[in-house]
Amino acid sequence: MGKSLMRKPIQVKEAVQLVTEHAKLIDSEVVRLEDTYGRILREPIIARHDVPPFDRSPYDGFAIRAEDSLGASGSNRIEFQVIDEIGAGHLAKRGIEKGEAIRIMTGAPIPENATAVVMLEQTVESDQTFTLRKAFENGENISLRGEDATEGEVLIEQGAVIHPGTTALLATFGYAEVKVSKKPIVGILSTGTELLEVNEELEPGKIRNSNGPMIAAQLKRMGIQYKSYGMLGDNLDACMEMVETALEETDVLITTGGVSVGDYDYLPVIYEKLGAEVLFNKVAMRPGSVTTVATLGNHLLFGLSGNPSACFTGFELFTRPALLKMMGAEKTYMPRTKALLGDDFTKPNPFTRFIRAVWEMTEEGPVATPAGFNKSSAVSSIARGNCMIVLPSGTRGFTKRMEVDVLLLGVEEGVSTWDL
Ligand code: AMP
Ligand code: MG
Repeated sequence: MGKSLMRKPIQVKEAVQLVTEHAKLIDSEVVRLEDTYGRILREPIIARHDVPPFDRSPYDGFAIRAEDSLGASGSNRIEFQVIDEIGAGHLAKRGIEKGEAIRIMTGAPIPENATAVVMLEQTVESDQTFTLRKAFENGENISLRGEDATEGEVLIEQGAVIHPGTTALLATFGYAEVKVSKKPIVGILSTGTELLEVNEELEPGKIRNSNGPMIAAQLKRMGIQYKSYGMLGDNLDACMEMVETALEETDVLITTGGVSVGDYDYLPVIYEKLGAEVLFNKVAMRPGSVTTVATLGNHLLFGLSGNPSACFTGFELFTRPALLKMMGAEKTYMPRTKALLGDDFTKPNPFTRFIRAVWEMTEEGPVATPAGFNKSSAVSSIARGNCMIVLPSGTRGFTKRMEVDVLLLGVEEGVSTWDL
């Protein structure tokens, strides 16, 4: 079969670049605004009008001509005649003249001739009149038309993730329908003769399939549907057949397990038989050094390790940015920050190491603490924590309170560069 045991590791950054370069942009579609949460914009959001669209009051108060308040003070209160009252959504019947005011509520349009708004708290009211004790400047307490956005301005570029703030902006301009990316169809296939379904009792030598459900959840977190191809034992023909079927029905296929160099690791053989182009089959990282990515036509095939921590990390580092890129996202990477290491980490690092950890703010500043047992086979530590610590290769271990890089997980919109 020519299964080579010698694999040349490439650096994580290079691997990420290779994968995203091979991620082909998928089609767009137009969907209703209420269905756009988490989708990737395929058109810029352009201000279709000024925001606010008219000068308006930011407070409940009285609209006056600022000049009429000139000379006002505690010992010289100036009185105004209230000629009208307008709430948000209403227009004044007429403008104001010298000495007049209109009672105005937050969001209501500034009446003609008015140049300032006096807050209710700044007045002493009586029937149809009020007095104030300070002079107001032209424009004081007025929200100006266009101060937030001006017509024609590009406010959000295409390729942005639609989050609740984006939704508000789209709604502001009447984008009842929005052009977004379609979602890639992703298949998940777990391989391993030792695997049991989640509802099966343990048997000697067997373990339950945790990778399949985990990846399904990682995809769900991205709002991406998946097709499950279940689990298969380590059987070349059966796996080959299932992979071929899956490739007909999906854009991206994620397999877990069987990607290493063991006797029953058939994924490398399958890639070869399919004629897929293997982008890499070894990455200078722990866990997940055997992570393999291949392309076949427009398809991407992710061969993730069966080891749960490695599988999790492989998805977040490679699959996630690739899927985002396919959807035209500009910011495909996890945001990175710095923190103090919360514990000694004394294992030497031949490769860049990714450690599932808990990031939190303390009195000493941000601290990231490894989330427990940290072998690539670990499943407990991936359940804890909210980030991954990144320890560079070539070090003899790290001690508590050293500054380390941290990648944040589960953030709605990431960043545009991978600069580790
Ligand atoms: P492999 O990548 O097939 O060499 O598997 C590496 C390790 O991960 C082995 O100990 C497997 O039993 C375990 N493993 C493989 N697939 C899964 C899975 N779907 N869920 C949990 N553990 C798995
Ligand atoms: Mg296996």
